[in-house]
Amino acid sequence: MRIEADPDLCQGHAMCELEAPDVFEVPPKGKVRVLDAAPSGDQREQVAAAVRYCPTGALKLLET
Ligand code: SF4
Repeated sequence: MRIEADPDLCQGHAMCELEAPDVFEVPPKGKVRVLDAAPSGDQREQVAAAVRYCPTGALKLLET
């Protein structure tokens, strides 16, 4: 799987970092940084939750 983050949509809520701290980092008042754009399968649940709970729909999970 691959992660895509749209910086134009991200508003820095950091829900993604809460759900998957190994994959997303959000600096204070900043925008999301994807630490691992191709996370391993065992991160799937965390990453899927991050995508689901992002309030602005800025994250996409693509199957590769
Ligand atoms: S949850 Fe969504 S809006 Fe919030 S920091 Fe993550 S990507 Fe950005």
